[in-house]
Amino acid sequence: MKVFAKDQVVFDFSKANAPVYFVEAGETFWVETDDCYSGQIKTEKVLRPDIDISIMDCSVGPIAVNGAGPGDVLCVEVLAIQLAEQGVMVTSPGLGVLGEKITKAHTKIIPIKNGFAEFNERIKLPLTPMIGVLGVAPAEGSVHCAVPGDHGSNMDTKLVKVGSRVYLPVFVSGANMALGDLHACMGDGELSGTGIETAGRVCLKVDVIKKQKLQRPMLETAEAVYTLASKNDINEAIKTAVNDMVEFLMLKKSLDFADAYRLLSAACDIQISQLVNETITVRVKAPKLDLQLQSVF
Ligand code: CA
Ligand code: ZN
Repeated sequence: MKVFAKDQVVFDFSKANAPVYFVEAGETFWVETDDCYSGQIKTEKVLRPDIDISIMDCSVGPIAVNGAGPGDVLCVEVLAIQLAEQGVMVTSPGLGVLGEKITKAHTKIIPIKNGFAEFNERIKLPLTPMIGVLGVAPAEGSVHCAVPGDHGSNMDTKLVKVGSRVYLPVFVSGANMALGDLHACMGDGELSGTGIETAGRVCLKVDVIKKQKLQRPMLETAEAVYTLASKNDINEAIKTAVNDMVEFLMLKKSLDFADAYRLLSAACDIQISQLVNETITVRVKAPKLDLQLQSVF
């Protein structure tokens, strides 16, 4: 199985970045990644304001998927996530929902051992490994890896985890996927501004679904399907994700708008992936049980 090393990175998603790794549709492979600080914070002596932010938030890739082209959908299945032996959480003035309460920067190193993140001597958190950044090259322009959008990227959704499938629209030949920003644990909202940031490696399987209409990322777990929308304004993000779900329900369940809208209200939940970055990502969850879906497409 191919293993892609973490030394080949991009700082933005752009069709101008030539692919460095290559896979076939249907292939399973490993990708090694550094943490979102590119490994600059290994001890509690290093504070967030001290690091070189120009090398933060990189993604490993681009990975070209042979056979993927504009108008197709890339299905990325997360098969395994292996974490490093420690993670880091920083606090810094202005960071997160209560950032104004932080007067000085502080770094906490959190050991990752035996399935737990050892937050302190009394609190051990079961690991919930997830991928913060997973995206493809957009049709036009260049978008920094910290910014989510219709091309995926820094969606910071805790559901990009083992067993999930992420569906991304393909805008350029090969899709030119890249990923990074693993978290050992993260709650919805990423409320203090970081998850438990860690290096590691992930095992992915990619498939290409030819000529399927998809404007923005969708996600599928064993229990549910999700639409995801990223916007600077949270209300606009909610409206977009809700509209995407209503259109999905209309199509999949052969409903008119009013009935799909009712089904949305009766069975679906609005959720927040993260709300602490400038661009906010929200999800709408539709339970599969009620939809009797086998898969998104
Ligand atoms: Ca992130
Ligand atoms: Zn992160």
